[in-house]
Amino acid sequence: MKVTEYLKNADKTLFSFEILPPLKGQSLTNLLDGIAPLMDFNPPFIDVTYHREEYMYKKHPNGLLEKISTRKRPGTVGICAAIMNKFKVDAVPHLLCGGFSKEETENALIDLYFIGVENVLALRGDAPKLESNFVPEKDGHHYASQLVEQIIGMNHGKYLHDETEVGFQTDFCVGVAGYPEKHFEAPSLNFDLKKLQAKIDAGADYIVTQMFFDNQKYFDFVEKVRAAGIDAPIIPGLKPITTLSQIVNLPKTFFLDLPDDLLTALEKCKSNADVKAVGIEWAIQQSKELIKYGVPTLHYYTMSKADTTYKVAKEVF
Ligand code: FAD
Repeated sequence: MKVTEYLKNADKTLFSFEILPPLKGQSLTNLLDGIAPLMDFNPPFIDVTYHREEYMYKKHPNGLLEKISTRKRPGTVGICAAIMNKFKVDAVPHLLCGGFSKEETENALIDLYFIGVENVLALRGDAPKLESNFVPEKDGHHYASQLVEQIIGMNHGKYLHDETEVGFQTDFCVGVAGYPEKHFEAPSLNFDLKKLQAKIDAGADYIVTQMFFDNQKYFDFVEKVRAAGIDAPIIPGLKPITTLSQIVNLPKTFFLDLPDDLLTALEKCKSNADVKAVGIEWAIQQSKELIKYGVPTLHYYTMSKADTTYKVAKEVF
């Protein structure tokens, strides 16, 4: 079923979450066993991230540079199939502009539709670590709004090299990313909101936010999005902090602020166990306030730590 239908039919806030494919060489069974307890909270859908190919250069004695792929988390499509098969829950694969030509995107969407995927989260993706700016593939999309356009085109039977005939029509429900604290490249939040509007105008059905730790940021964001005339559901993304290093890494990686109260509590922690307890409690309080506010679903970034999400959800759902 479509994410938007789950949200429309729900009479209370739902529970959903995102997982990462395991590192290459690690087993899928461990991942699936790890998330199995989360089925207690009846997630209608599970997001599966996509990780584009990364690479490094190896210098040979003759001076030549060899480009070596270091992609570490393949398997998004296979995991989606496994989730739907094992848990009878809808899987939402993330789909990137980066690393894909339009033709490859078209083929990936056909694969996804044929295995029964009904929802995708359309994203631009980031530049590989060795590159400073995002550069689209030759004949690929530059922005997520263009990817949304392609997906919606296929929903109307439009394929790349067959402009005249209406082909098989897919029926994807499309989610896009939103940034309560602004996307790091956007010169202002208003600029970013206009680009969010472009994704909705292209046909996106719902928005999932970047993680945030101060609910007020989400409330303000919702207000601004609504004022801009966008009425799509805005799903809040939450992540319980689990390690002290995340105090530095999360703001650096995701371009967000940690509230002073949270930082003060974390700074008093003597061990990672203390940090985890503070992180879980913070996420519980955030979740409870967001439910009161009436959010459609609480979407947890498990980052392969399903046990932490379980502890939060047990107190909230
Ligand atoms: P876009 O919406 O295309 O925006 C990117 C930037 O370009 C923004 O600053 C925007 O303001 C600007 N912009 C947009 N359109 C235009 C235009 N026409 N002209 C000028 N500027 C424009 N990354 C992964 O690699 N894999 C994942 O699985 C993944 N999952 C994610 C899930 C969520 C919920 C979120 C919030 C992020 C996720 N990301 C993932 C990260 C995401 O790929 C990055 O944040 C990326 O930098 C931006 O993606 P986007 O879809 O928001 O891009």
